[in-house]
Amino acid sequence: MSLPHSKKIILEEKSIPQAWYNIQADLPTPLDPPLNPQTFQPIEPGDLSPIFPMELIKQEVTTERWIEIPEEVRELYKMWRPTPVYRATQLEKLLDTPAKIYYKYEGTSPAGSHKLNTSLPQAYYNQKAGITRLATETGAGQWGSALSLACKFFDLECTVYMVKVSCEQKPYRKSFMQVYEAEVIPSPSTRTAAGRHVLEENPQSTGSLGIAISEAVEDAASRPDTNYALGSVLNHVILHQTIIGLEAKAQLAQVDTYPDIVIGACGGGSNFAGIAFPFMPEMFQGKKTRFIAVEPDACPTLTKGTFAYDYGDTAKLTPITKMYTLGSSFMPPGIHAGGLRYHGESPLVSQLFHDGFIEAQAYGQKAIFEAALTFARTEGIVPAPESAHAIASAIAEAKKAKEAGEEKTILFCLSGHGLFDLGAYDSYFEGRLNDIPHSDEALAKSLEKLPKV
Ligand SMILES: *Cc1c(COP(=O)(O)O)cnc(C)c1O
Repeated sequence: MSLPHSKKIILEEKSIPQAWYNIQADLPTPLDPPLNPQTFQPIEPGDLSPIFPMELIKQEVTTERWIEIPEEVRELYKMWRPTPVYRATQLEKLLDTPAKIYYKYEGTSPAGSHKLNTSLPQAYYNQKAGITRLATETGAGQWGSALSLACKFFDLECTVYMVKVSCEQKPYRKSFMQVYEAEVIPSPSTRTAAGRHVLEENPQSTGSLGIAISEAVEDAASRPDTNYALGSVLNHVILHQTIIGLEAKAQLAQVDTYPDIVIGACGGGSNFAGIAFPFMPEMFQGKKTRFIAVEPDACPTLTKGTFAYDYGDTAKLTPITKMYTLGSSFMPPGIHAGGLRYHGESPLVSQLFHDGFIEAQAYGQKAIFEAALTFARTEGIVPAPESAHAIASAIAEAKKAKEAGEEKTILFCLSGHGLFDLGAYDSYFEGRLNDIPHSDEALAKSLEKLPKV
């Protein structure tokens, strides 16, 4: 069998979607309302206005199906969008599978991942609202990079609280953010009460996304010129990311194809939802498409977590939302897929998973790096360790299709490149990279502390 080299399906620039898709219009079970962390009463839009601009608060709750993409944002999207969809012919050949494997590559953005899809509109709406500075957290550094760049474009200052272990693992991420003149602070820091509190209890703390979020939210809430920006989880972030799936759907339609299986790596859920949600309306109508969210077994939010109201951060400053969670005090091991080390999950993804529309899988990091290298050595692109979770699942599904002799069509999101993650690849080559499963005991302890709503 001889196949051409991996085929690229492009879309013309003029076919960048005009609107994002809001799945809240079509949810079989509407979301439970977010609650005020002090009173446990449903939050009012005004509760969020100290940290978010009104346009984003509206997007958080609207049930309108299509939300128009502002022209200024669409123009900036044109820098790198539409992103390509590739058919992974070389990988298919290696696996000798009857499955067709397609991937949507989001690593072509100047920030290197899908996160610029939401950092641009977030910076845009904040600037429109008169805000001059944004504070945020970053795990592996991808979100911090994307927001730093978006802030540069919209002339905003940017402060990034970066999880300490990631600062040490990925020093060039910090340099990258500084290129765009962001201020980068290792978290936990002494800059905020939340950070100081963590350091008093554990001066060696390597940090977590939950802690870094607390620091950024406290920073934003304490200054009128500053808002907070979150790179995943929230409904408005998921909304912006649907551009991935909308484009992919149009690209596959160009080759008369519709996926049987849609796969995404799942941290807070934004790239998974971004590629998956635009395919869900047909599934709600009865089409048998499978949707697989893939997470690390070190931080198994969907596969081992509980569906409950929980805090989004460690200091309990954020609204409590109903989601799959490992508990806001859960400290995930320092695995290399830093972007997937979050205790919670998008409420939208959580509800759909709870209702049985989404499947979840978990992998250890050795299996992830094996999948990453198999992919790089066939398709040529070095994937981010986060994205490699989707690859591992796509390979597993393609092998199953071979065993069953089924011609499945698989689509996955390659959410970013791994060129800032070569230190992690080095660890793998040197045999220093171990599977660090979560501790069931620590998980049980953390879940005991869920708010009693
Ligand atoms: C942040 C990130 C993820 C995980 O975040 P989601 O919100 O779940 O998408 C996955 N891949 C890459 C490349 C990332 O930067």
